[in-house]
Amino acid sequence: MTTSNTQTLFQSFDRAMMESLKVYRNGGIGLEGNFVVVNHESVDAYEVKVEQGIIKECTCPHSHWRKAVCKHMIKVGLIHNMDIEQLKRP
Ligand SMILES: [Zn+2]
Repeated sequence: MTTSNTQTLFQSFDRAMMESLKVYRNGGIGLEGNFVVVNHESVDAYEVKVEQGIIKECTCPHSHWRKAVCKHMIKVGLIHNMDIEQLKRP
C-alpha cells in the first residue's frame, strides 16, 4: 500500500512537533535567508532553502528525492511564521 501525500504531510508535521529539532540561521554569505535544522541527537543537519520569504526545499532525502514537505521545512515554517511553497494558501 502506498502512502498518500496527506499521510506523508501528517507524518512530517507530527515529527516536527515531537522531535526537538534545533533551527539556526545559515550564516554563510548569500545564504543568510536559509536555515540549518539539526536533529535531536545533533547528528544530522539539513539546510532549508528560503527565497523571498517562502520556504522552497530542504537538503534531506525526504524533500530532495521524494519532493515531500519534510519535518525540517515545517519546523522552520512554524518557528519563523513562513509559508511553504508546496502548500497552497486557502
Ligand atoms: Zn528536510
